[in-house]
Amino acid sequence: MNNTYLLLGSNEGERYDWLRQCLRQIKKNIGTITAQSQVYETAAWGLEDQPDFLNMAVCVETIFEPDIVLSAVQNIEAELGRQRTVKWGQRTLDVDILLIDERIIDQSDLRVPHPFLPERRFALIPLAEIAGYVVHPIFNKTIGELLEQCPDDLEVRSKGHLTGL
Ligand code: ATP
Ligand code: CA
Ligand code: CA
Repeated sequence: MNNTYLLLGSNEGERYDWLRQCLRQIKKNIGTITAQSQVYETAAWGLEDQPDFLNMAVCVETIFEPDIVLSAVQNIEAELGRQRTVKWGQRTLDVDILLIDERIIDQSDLRVPHPFLPERRFALIPLAEIAGYVVHPIFNKTIGELLEQCPDDLEVRSKGHLTGL
């Protein structure tokens, strides 16, 4: 078993519905959700001329190895209508693997911890809510510490817990 921390994001269409549907698919195809953050809203990072994102972090206890989890999240994205067009562009649903316990994976198609995690408040804030004391295995700092030191200044607004699950 491993604890896989995922970040869900949506900035197109019925954003709350994509998150709800994604949680259902995670439970069906990946494992048990043992922790779930609130939903947060943030202006788009990297490529700014697009709608705001909703993001939330979840911890999934899974029997699957990382490569299988990556294909599973990509299947969920495909099933929930994601069109891959512009890098960092608008999307119905994006699911990134942030951490898998304290493992380090450096493959061309999978890097864990997610390489941009320390630079993104929209990922660190929800993750810190459910994993503030988990240690980032490359920086040897907790997620809470990385958040304190994060230089990103995009505002991340709490929208409360996802309802209607
Ligand atoms: P970013 O990764 O900077 O948030 P993105 O989410 O827009 O950008 P995608 O188009 O969703 O990028 O993914 C591009 C590729 O990233 C995927 O095909 C996948 O193989 C690879 N990838 C590498 N590491 C990870 C990870 N930790 N989680 C999810 N995808 C990853
Ligand atoms: Ca992403
Ligand atoms: Ca992604």
